[in-house]
Amino acid sequence: MKILLASSEVHPYSKTGGLADMVGALAKTLAGFGHRVGLVTPLYAGVRERFPKIKKLDWEIELPLGTRQETAEVWTLAINARLTIYFIRHPDFYERKGLYQEGGKDYPDNAERFVFFSKCVAQLGRYLPWKPELIHVHDWQAALVPLFVRHQSLSDGWHHAPNTCLTIHNLAYQGNFPAAAFDLTNLPAGYFNPKGVEFYGALNCLKAGIVFSDIITTVSPRYAREIMTGQFGCGLEGVLQQRRESVFGILNGVDYSEWRTTRNPFLDHAFSVRSLNRKTRQKLALQKELGLPVNAAIPLFSTITRLADQKGVDILLGALEEMLVNRMQFVLLGSGSSYFESAYRDLAMRCPDKVVARIGFDQGLSHRIEAGSDFFVMPSRYEPCGLNQMYSQRYGTVPIVRTTGGLDDSVVDESEDNNGATGIKFAEYSAPALAKSIRRALSIFEDTKTLLAYRVNGMNTDFSWKRTGEQYSRVYELALNQHS
Ligand code: ADP
Repeated sequence: MKILLASSEVHPYSKTGGLADMVGALAKTLAGFGHRVGLVTPLYAGVRERFPKIKKLDWEIELPLGTRQETAEVWTLAINARLTIYFIRHPDFYERKGLYQEGGKDYPDNAERFVFFSKCVAQLGRYLPWKPELIHVHDWQAALVPLFVRHQSLSDGWHHAPNTCLTIHNLAYQGNFPAAAFDLTNLPAGYFNPKGVEFYGALNCLKAGIVFSDIITTVSPRYAREIMTGQFGCGLEGVLQQRRESVFGILNGVDYSEWRTTRNPFLDHAFSVRSLNRKTRQKLALQKELGLPVNAAIPLFSTITRLADQKGVDILLGALEEMLVNRMQFVLLGSGSSYFESAYRDLAMRCPDKVVARIGFDQGLSHRIEAGSDFFVMPSRYEPCGLNQMYSQRYGTVPIVRTTGGLDDSVVDESEDNNGATGIKFAEYSAPALAKSIRRALSIFEDTKTLLAYRVNGMNTDFSWKRTGEQYSRVYELALNQHS
């Protein structure tokens, strides 16, 4: 199969969250299966310096964007014979400090930046010499692509246009812009109505993908069910219900070539399920790195997260206030809302021998925290998939999660399987409910045999991309059969 993927972030070139990890791994997996894969993404500041092998193609894209004409260059990196990354170079749009925002504020021209990106993706889909059969786009930044493809195949002479698939990584981010932004699409006004891309008078990019792509996937089975409801549907539940037959939930995989406990350049000590004593050495090294008392007998809790409402960082603060009287340590690595950044800094200042708040983004430290902690806390309000709870299982760190979305699909509580438990789950979104789970964790920590069983079960759980990639391949087959 010949597949063109499109995403506004891709690991290892750019990343703000799980989207980048997922798309990078999906591309590698599909190419490994023997598919021809292209992946389109913006060329952000600094990428060419870090990847000097990226080369300019003899291909300049010139497209209308509302009343203007915009041009972009196409740069490429051939990973292997079956996988090519295509970078869209438009310095004014993409060479900035952030991907989507700076100082907590979205760039005011995000509509221009990503409508243009989506147009470029459709252009590549149409004119790449290897003729993709399927275009798989991710999140709102690329969600207008299925509409551009549909429109050009119906009324602009694009014969045998590819089928399309949209993956929703987070329904809360929809790319909603004032109606005037619709002009940037240069599409007939007929698409701007409630059956098309209009959402309460605004342009909704994600809705375009939901309405016009052949297949829709989201990143866990439970989230696929949740988004059909008023509670999680963010206003799009009705539109999704209309496409119910075409919506599939596929749990993301873990790229074990990166997220590994042996031969991992970020870790101080390699360990495995057969040498868990060395995980303790990693814990001691982490405590030292963080400036915490170095003591294996003190349970170490952690979280690595965007500091956003979604992530349950408010109830985590409440639960910590209650639980920190116990002998325990806690480290947070994260950034985002300035309110929560100061709240966690403040907590760390009040409890310097128990709490560390590292505000920022640090890939290496994220591996060491996953590996050196005893428990990893993810109390999300909602969680489309979540990756850290799966990484922590591979690293022998017991996840504490709320029963929502992918967290529920990827962690086994003792109440579900007495011998197969991999983590601790709680349902009620409240600080006391989370505190209760932390209390349970403290008692598991004291019971060496049970703790070992949780760790071993987690480490042996297989979240490999092979299974995820096979599920995507099957869904692509369905998409190809939609129309031809
Ligand atoms: P989301 O995509 O909603 O942010 P996920 O759990 O799916 O959440 O993915 C988050 C990814 O980003 C993980 O790989 C996580 O380790 C990483 N991450 C989040 N915050 C940081 C940070 N401050 N430093 C390093 N990595 C981070």
